[in-house]
Amino acid sequence: MTANYDVAIVGAGAAGIAAARRLSLSGLTTIVFEASPRIGGRAWTNALAGVPLDLGCGWLHSAERNSWRRVAEEMGFAIDRGTAAWGEQYQDRGLSAAERRAARRAYAAWFARLESAPPASDCAADALKPGDEWNPFIESISGYLNGDALARVSVADSLAYDEASTDTNWRAPAGYGALIAASFPAGVELRLAAPVERIALDGRSVALATPLGEARASAAIVTVSTAVLASGAIALPPDLEPWRRAAEGLPLGRNEKLFFEIAAPDAFPPENHVHGNPRDAGAGSYTIRPFGRPVVEGFFGGAGAAVVAEEGLVAGFAHATKELVALFGAKVRRSLKPLVGSNWTRTDWIGGGYSHALPGRRTARADLARPFDGKIFFAGEATHPFDFSTAHGAHDTGVRAAEEAIAALKPRSARATGA
Ligand SMILES: Cc1cc2nc3c(=O)[nH]c(=O)nc-3n(C[C@H](O)[C@H](O)[C@H](O)COP(=O)(O)OP(=O)(O)OC[C@H]3O[C@@H](n4cnc5c(N)ncnc54)[C@H](O)[C@@H]3O)c2cc1C
Repeated sequence: MTANYDVAIVGAGAAGIAAARRLSLSGLTTIVFEASPRIGGRAWTNALAGVPLDLGCGWLHSAERNSWRRVAEEMGFAIDRGTAAWGEQYQDRGLSAAERRAARRAYAAWFARLESAPPASDCAADALKPGDEWNPFIESISGYLNGDALARVSVADSLAYDEASTDTNWRAPAGYGALIAASFPAGVELRLAAPVERIALDGRSVALATPLGEARASAAIVTVSTAVLASGAIALPPDLEPWRRAAEGLPLGRNEKLFFEIAAPDAFPPENHVHGNPRDAGAGSYTIRPFGRPVVEGFFGGAGAAVVAEEGLVAGFAHATKELVALFGAKVRRSLKPLVGSNWTRTDWIGGGYSHALPGRRTARADLARPFDGKIFFAGEATHPFDFSTAHGAHDTGVRAAEEAIAALKPRSARATGA
């Protein structure tokens, strides 16, 4: 390994890859250290049973202005512009049309209260109507969006996301994770299974210690998740303690996916959806036969995902099976086979789903995004002011951090060359 680089990137998820892509156009020498044996981080397409399955990001949210959509077009990756079936309930199973309308009205009323009279506590749970029968339903939606109970969610942060989101959601049939991984630029050095264990400032350079040895760079871009940053798994200079504390204000929620293979797929029409038990905050959101494939994709957030994180995948599949049996009858036990699932909370170097701000901690995103001393720059979904929690948000922070590093290094290289 050449020991000296202009820029070292810590982490090869969506943000690190986007930073590497931007730096590859700059002429600066760049190395990427990735702790795990693969690139992509929370963007991960796993090909199983002949179909690509996204265990992390799957939807290109705010698709009209989504940077990965533009990358997909450049690379010739197909994009499916079909509408998401999330709001539908196949054959009204377990949730009649009237109940669906009532649940949606309750959700809309709660959200209107967030907008018109945000609680002074900045706590999203404080806008719930005590005892309302649809509170568990609202909690389950918060679980999908934030990965956590509303008691731990900042109102100001949620509103910032909602105001910016375009509500257009598309997909990449070959997999969002596959698209992001395929976009890693040629000409940038990559070290896999190379966790950065310590970052230190050493005169004009940054020293990064890994099990493969030490590298030096004029600048470092840190893209690891807030769970990793807050945990202290990377030893940082003491002056970076405010950045670690900012990460603590932006915990990763719990978000997991479980895929079942359907033995007799023709029994279900493609692209359908059911919400699990609407009276349970841990309800799953199940897409039946996405792209017509013989699978059910279960998505869980907050309490539902905690089952996987705390009790494991077997318990997670049992929870999902129970919900599907309640909706479709005992016969589905025979036709659904657990295929694969995520456990992001227990995955080393990730530690959860995606970030949300704790009540009162909305400004932590800007605190975390600040550059340090013209040498250390921060990217990753949690540092985006409004597209946080998404892969395109992560992308745009990677580009932002790369441009900050380029701008910081330009005067130094100009001085070095006498320009
Ligand atoms: C179940 C689930 C569903 C989702 N669905 C969607 C969706 O539909 N649409 C959407 O836009 N987003 C979705 N997301 C969110 C999206 O996947 C993430 O926001 C995005 O991928 C985060 O990218 P990142 O680069 O910020 O972080 P990460 O993907 O976490 O990348 C950081 C990288 O750093 C590495 N790393 C950590 N520590 C070290 C170290 N010490 N040294 C070196 N490397 C290190 C990690 O291994 C990782 O590869 C979903 C996420 C989950 C979990």
